[in-house]
Amino acid sequence: MNQQMQKQITLKQRPVGMPKMDDFDFIDTPIGTTSAGEVLIRTAYISVDPYLRGRMQDTKSYIAPFELNKVITSGVIGQVVDSKSESFSKGDVVLGNLGWQEYSVVNEKEIKKIDKNLAPVTANLSIIGMTGLTAYFGLLDIAKPKSGETVVVSGAAGAVGSTVGQIAKIKGTRVIGIAGTDEKCQYLLNELGFDEAINYKKEDVPTALAKACPEGIDIYFDNVGGTISDAVFPLLNKFARIPVCGAISSYNDVEVDMGPRVQTALIKTSALMKGFTLGDYSDRIGEGYSALATWLNEGKLKYEETIVEGFDHVIDAFLDLFKGANLGKQLVKVSDID
Ligand code: NDP
Repeated sequence: MNQQMQKQITLKQRPVGMPKMDDFDFIDTPIGTTSAGEVLIRTAYISVDPYLRGRMQDTKSYIAPFELNKVITSGVIGQVVDSKSESFSKGDVVLGNLGWQEYSVVNEKEIKKIDKNLAPVTANLSIIGMTGLTAYFGLLDIAKPKSGETVVVSGAAGAVGSTVGQIAKIKGTRVIGIAGTDEKCQYLLNELGFDEAINYKKEDVPTALAKACPEGIDIYFDNVGGTISDAVFPLLNKFARIPVCGAISSYNDVEVDMGPRVQTALIKTSALMKGFTLGDYSDRIGEGYSALATWLNEGKLKYEETIVEGFDHVIDAFLDLFKGANLGKQLVKVSDID
């Protein structure tokens, strides 16, 4: 029996405001052994995501809260090191919603094999993975961009936002990105082909948006909520569409954030504002994946990943999301893939 030990991260207590190291525990625990239909996976990359903050609260949502003193889970890429499954062999690279731990024993139904030849494996957690798919469905299914329209995206230099802007460009729109540093704005303009970029930490967002959108806003892809989004509503055009993807600016709020009410702006413009999660599109993942993979291989989509090294830094990497330290998808590298 394998009694080798590994580290895992559990939720010790529910964070109040910005999470702290004390809210988590690093536990030494046995690696475990496989039974029929199971595989042992060595964790290679862990995805840290803003939505995980919501799962740390005990509130009703589209996904169950994390349980206290249980291992935290998210998107993980790993390599099979032992298999009692007929579908997986030692050496296979796999993707699943797995624990923040160095090794996982999982049933074969919980993971899928990654095609190593299609793209670098980490792309399965970014551009052709959860964040790319979120951008794809939120923009194309809800906002339905038309050539010549004006699209504004917040959180524009992050994993979802940077993909949204590029797909919007593929669809022939004019794209304005909002991000938190000059370097990120330069990246949007020079690398991704955005038409305008606004540094919300330096510029007055209502003034900058009005200047960047002289013909108003047809689509606002909302990743952040808060005062950045408040600035969009007065500029909406007739029949504007607003996919509400995320509200990271409020995830650590202790009190309910009371912004301007949006009803009047929506009525005046007949605008559509719709919340969504990627789970709404679970039966169309194949479509999104192949569209993103095609654009990627045609050179029409670019992506960045900010990869923090070492299992001990998973929490730091998660907290970095709220400081804007990441460009593109934030990942943690735990081990090499052979
Ligand atoms: P990102 O890669 O965009 O990382 C988060 C970014 O948010 C940071 O880099 C930072 O960039 C920005 N940010 C942090 N705090 C604030 C703030 N107070 N105000 C404005 N911007 C802030 O993360 P993702 O691309 O993974 O996620 C983007 C959004 O989409 C999140 O809100 C997330 O919850 C949501 N999401 C929703 C999904 C769904 O199914 N609906 C699926 C995946 C993500 P900067 O330097 O610009 O401030």
